[in-house]
Amino acid sequence: MIGLIGGMSWESSAEYYRILNQGIRERHGQTASARCLLWSFDFAEIEELQHRGDWVSLEALMIDAARRLEAGGAEVLLICTNTMHKMADAVQSAVGVPLLHIADATAEAVKTANITRVGLLGTAFTMEQDFYKGRLARHHGLDVIIPDAADRSTIHRIIYEELVAGQALPASRDAYRAIIARLVDDGAEAIILGCTEIMLLVRPEDSAVPLFDTTALHANAAISMALAD
Ligand code: GLU
Repeated sequence: MIGLIGGMSWESSAEYYRILNQGIRERHGQTASARCLLWSFDFAEIEELQHRGDWVSLEALMIDAARRLEAGGAEVLLICTNTMHKMADAVQSAVGVPLLHIADATAEAVKTANITRVGLLGTAFTMEQDFYKGRLARHHGLDVIIPDAADRSTIHRIIYEELVAGQALPASRDAYRAIIARLVDDGAEAIILGCTEIMLLVRPEDSAVPLFDTTALHANAAISMALAD
């Protein structure tokens, strides 16, 4: 049973749910679907705490959700957002079942493609703080580059003002495309879509280099883990 800590935002949790079920159907036949539990937050509450910098309350909320899912029978946990992996270690310490880290699932795919220098797109928290970039660098040996301050602020604004509200606007897609091109000019051999909503906006044809979609990679890693048991 896969436990999903979601609702951050529900736009991407719906994608996790679709990918998990689709993956099980492909492997086990058309009526087969994924055994899973979803704890879905009200993202308005989460987003407010994030922008207030109240990571202590957020950590308590993530741990509470993880424990509820474990008590409900989850055998593996996924935090369905890159940003909230800021407290992944604390969540893992609070439960007895494995937490499948989104950066690990992503890095494994990047390494399999023999790529070492990657551009990272995500919320400002994910691009600027160490919890994500540091894990990619220290655990996986990846060389991570991020956009400049103006581009980071554009990416962050579009995530919180549009993508979590289900809006994929052509002008925003153009903005992301231009930012990706600048990262490629800076030497990025691939781009990590390090926010679980970015694939709602950006497609492979928007980039001259491969895109690594963290939502799909994370959900598919969970399928592989569930089927291995
Ligand atoms: N889903 C996004 C992410 O992957 C942003 C929402 C959030 O801040 O949790 O980081």
